[in-house]
Amino acid sequence: MSTFEQFQFPPSIGKELNAMGFVKPTLIQEKAIPIALAGRDVIGMAQTGTGKTAAFSLPMAVRLMNQPHQTGLVLAPTRELAMQIHEFIKKLSGKNSQLQPALIIGGASMNQQLAVLRRRPRILVATPGRLCDHLRSQPKLLNRSSILVLDEADRMLDMGFLPQIRTILRALPKPRQTMMFSATFEPEVKKLTHEFMYKPEVVTIGAPSKPVEKIEQAVIQTSHKEKNDILLDELNARQGAVLIFTRTKHRTDRLSRYLESYGYKVARIHGDRSQAQRRMAIEGFARGHFRILVATDIASRGLDIENIAHVINYDLPQVPEDYIHRIGRTARNGRGGQALCLLTPDDRQMWRSISRLTERKHI
Ligand code: AMP
Repeated sequence: MSTFEQFQFPPSIGKELNAMGFVKPTLIQEKAIPIALAGRDVIGMAQTGTGKTAAFSLPMAVRLMNQPHQTGLVLAPTRELAMQIHEFIKKLSGKNSQLQPALIIGGASMNQQLAVLRRRPRILVATPGRLCDHLRSQPKLLNRSSILVLDEADRMLDMGFLPQIRTILRALPKPRQTMMFSATFEPEVKKLTHEFMYKPEVVTIGAPSKPVEKIEQAVIQTSHKEKNDILLDELNARQGAVLIFTRTKHRTDRLSRYLESYGYKVARIHGDRSQAQRRMAIEGFARGHFRILVATDIASRGLDIENIAHVINYDLPQVPEDYIHRIGRTARNGRGGQALCLLTPDDRQMWRSISRLTERKHI
């Protein structure tokens, strides 16, 4: 069994990995790290939960240690993801003040960020919009950033960040190393790789989202009061494993307890559950110990379980694109699948956005 030792990281990095309890690389790390350490471009087809953050952060940190005049940039679609990546790189860099990352995201003080940027941090973790704001006043901000990571590239494109990404790419030096991570490889993402990457090596973990033509989609209009009754009716009428999405961790817990009180075998996952709890929930669900898995959108991308017969959107997602990822959890490996939405009157606007998106994608 392989360990991180095979990569011969500098001792300081090895020490921080130990402190974090990382012993064995995950699949994406095992495949992507050697390519990235060699300075080559990488396309990682992997979702959150696969260990992709370390897969790009580790080689980036190591390469920057060897190239003291270069800097690195990580772009992420959301503030939350940028914060998580920033936190991880901060831990990884430990006492090495050279590698302390700076977080450049919207919603935070521009002036504070300017003060941080004046100290010339060698790793920036940014959302595209805010970084472009800084580029306007400091066009040379990125001219030593020879390592670029685009994390959740598909989501950045879905969120309409292509113009900002182009602006940022123009401000970056050539040659550079580009690493791109994406859960899906739709034509828009592919186009980006042709434009901005040099002979990338593709590493894939799990099956990418399948086209969704095989999914039968249905909608039931209901009210908050009747939602639970309708859900019970639907569960009774359907056969096979069911993945239910809710909006929040709290609602995931509450709905799980409610369904358990009716005798259903239910597992649940959300961001507050430990890695071990999540693994047990997913394994138990995959093996059929639990018929139902209740989850937040944490499961909308990562989950690759063959036998999910139904996806029920108890709540709609916060971002339209997540709807496609959610329903893509069924109909995997050529099987059919059903997706159901329970819509309440206040879902109207989000449902309209979702419908527009799914029409565009010819579902
Ligand atoms: P990510 O997909 O990067 O969000 O990582 C998912 C979770 O797995 C995070 O909590 C990481 O800290 C953890 N993780 C990533 N790589 C490893 C590893 N090699 N060993 C143990 N935990 C890991």
